[in-house]
Amino acid sequence: MAGTLSFEDLKSQVASGVIDTVLVCAVDMQGRLMGKRFHAANFIETSYEETHCCNYLLATDLEMATPSGYASASWQAGYGDYVLQPDLSTLRPVPWLAGTAMVLCDILDHHHHQPVPHSPRAILKKQIARLAELGFDAMMATELEFFLFEKSLDEIRKGGFRDLTPISGYNQDYHIFQTTKEEMIMRPVRNHLYAAGIPIENSKGEAEAGQEELNIRYSPALDCADFHTIAKNAVKEIAWQHGHAASFLPKWHADRVGSSSHVHQSLWQDGTPAFVDKADDLGMSELMKHYMAGLIAYAPDYTYFLAPYVNSYKRFAKGSFAPTKTVWSVDNRTAGFRLCGAGTKGVRVECRIGGSDLNPYLAQAVMLAAGIKGIEDNMVLGAPTTGDVYEDSKAGDIPQSLMAATGTLRNSAFLREVLGDDVVDHYTRAAEWEQEEFDRAVTDWEIARGFERA
Ligand code: ADP
Repeated sequence: MAGTLSFEDLKSQVASGVIDTVLVCAVDMQGRLMGKRFHAANFIETSYEETHCCNYLLATDLEMATPSGYASASWQAGYGDYVLQPDLSTLRPVPWLAGTAMVLCDILDHHHHQPVPHSPRAILKKQIARLAELGFDAMMATELEFFLFEKSLDEIRKGGFRDLTPISGYNQDYHIFQTTKEEMIMRPVRNHLYAAGIPIENSKGEAEAGQEELNIRYSPALDCADFHTIAKNAVKEIAWQHGHAASFLPKWHADRVGSSSHVHQSLWQDGTPAFVDKADDLGMSELMKHYMAGLIAYAPDYTYFLAPYVNSYKRFAKGSFAPTKTVWSVDNRTAGFRLCGAGTKGVRVECRIGGSDLNPYLAQAVMLAAGIKGIEDNMVLGAPTTGDVYEDSKAGDIPQSLMAATGTLRNSAFLREVLGDDVVDHYTRAAEWEQEEFDRAVTDWEIARGFERA
């Protein structure tokens, strides 16, 4: 795709002085870019082959703590190294940073150079390979929603994350005038990402003051996850460059709408959409119905990967456009799964469960695995739901808390079969640790509630 760099292009741009820095990045469990800033001369001489990182990068939390309980990395085992192996097909300029290029890496075991099983990119690649064995490719799009705030991240942090004021004063859903006022951030976001080879479709105001949505054209699943991760980082960096804060926390205020990351999914075969059947009422192929049946049946098992923190579950609320039920519907935004593009060649399923804090590699991997299971087992898709699904008492529930989702993850025979016990145990530990950290905290809410009246 235009915008990416070949290794030869990089060499000539280094020689001419256009590029002097290469960001060598891996993706951690939280979906963040982690890595090193290389002098470009060193990168093109040697480090393009590999570099190293401490193996705690895949056994830490948002705060970079060193939790106990991981089989793969610990104080006892000495926190050794992983190999970071640049995937040169992801080499691209970073137009919003002077003289900079970027590459994404696969994370390999230091001793035998095999992929680390719990690395998010490896987890997604494994499911893409399983799908390829069945003869299909996955095309995916993950929407990015986030809030922009008046102050900078540093000011907000120093102020204790209080008095958070969104960049706009009113609900800016589809607003052109209000979003014009945010173009100093959103225009460079769109244009710089496009110039970095990321097929931006559009940005728009979302359904709350200060809320934005960024849409990237659907792509093969691995590209989609790479694009999402780079775009999320770019949004934060570009907002920071302009003295503002961008936050992907799903629910920053109890009374404000939360931020999601809806995932659009379709399977293709030899470049043709395989979810399409013109003869069907809704234009859905049998393959699509089996895929969706698996997606829905195993949603409680994989919800953790769509909602990985305590805060993620504050988003799921009746009447909020965030779903609470594991059912599907035709173009109805109250259900967990929405059929989009019915009767067209763009027919696809949109999963609406995921929050803006999801890791796109993990989210796509577990949904692909569930869809594959539906295809392999010829699972039958029930009838679509209609009306206000929030009030449908027969519909299955999405786990309503991190604790509940940790239980369904830990006990999922399906995920253990498709991801492996080691991977499920690893992420179960991450989920448990998050809850343990929360349980240690004394929150503002309990102090205000009980200080005088308890
Ligand atoms: P919404 O109303 O949910 O924002 P859009 O029409 O903007 O829906 O499309 C959302 C996303 O769906 C876009 O990123 C688009 O690229 C993606 N999309 C379109 N067709 C397909 C498809 N066949 N498979 C997967 N994603 C698709």
